[in-house]
Amino acid sequence: FFVEGVHAVGERVALAADDARKIATVLRKRSGDRAQIVDSGGTAYAATLEVTGRAVTAALDAVIDADGVEPSPAITIAQAVPKGQKMDLVVEKATELGVHAIVPVRSARVIGHDTSAAKVERWRRIARSAAQQSGRTRVPAVADMLDWDALLRTFSAYDRVYVPWEVAEPRPLREVLEPEIATLRSLLVAVGPEGGLSHDEVTRAAAAGAVPVSLGRRILRTETAALVVLAAILYARGE
Ligand code: SAM
Repeated sequence: FFVEGVHAVGERVALAADDARKIATVLRKRSGDRAQIVDSGGTAYAATLEVTGRAVTAALDAVIDADGVEPSPAITIAQAVPKGQKMDLVVEKATELGVHAIVPVRSARVIGHDTSAAKVERWRRIARSAAQQSGRTRVPAVADMLDWDALLRTFSAYDRVYVPWEVAEPRPLREVLEPEIATLRSLLVAVGPEGGLSHDEVTRAAAAGAVPVSLGRRILRTETAALVVLAAILYARGE
């Protein structure tokens, strides 16, 4: 469970109301049961719970070695928002795989999908819950929605930006990745929506420094593309 603030062994911390309810009523934990607590600094603790009605506190007993749980490089997925519940899937699975952050994007061919602030809040809750269940030591940030031009302006914050593009021209991801993967600390991958990215969007991304890449000769669903590219990059880095 994640708790706010930076703590230390010997402290007792209160769990957030949602987590406390889950611990007491779903997991049916009792006082004296053990749990893993992670603070905002990413330190993981072995802890002993105290359950009093619906309030739960945890005594932080010892630091757990969580080295390597958070992969390197830090990979941010910018995902053009797909239809229905598909973004939920991307957020949940990308979090399990180790994504650093997720940026929901409104690109030209994202039409009629729900891109409201309430959705972004929902994706934040999904990221938190997926980080919890997969034993992460940080919750991936889900950024506020950006349009394509605003996304381009963030490119300079990353060591490298890849734009998967299913047309014939781009070099294969593997060919682009292999010579540079060992040196990258941060990476942005911008995946298009169901209708794809327009030629103009990819051209402007390339002018802003992105490298278009191919994920193979088959066209993947947008949600598949995001998860495949994340897994492939982490695999190439041995993560
Ligand atoms: N129509 C399908 C759907 O409903 O999801 C396919 C959509 S595909 C155009 C969506 C995005 O996935 C593309 O914009 C691209 O970023 C990525 N993508 C899919 N297949 C790819 C491939 N073989 N190589 C590179 N990118 C790919």
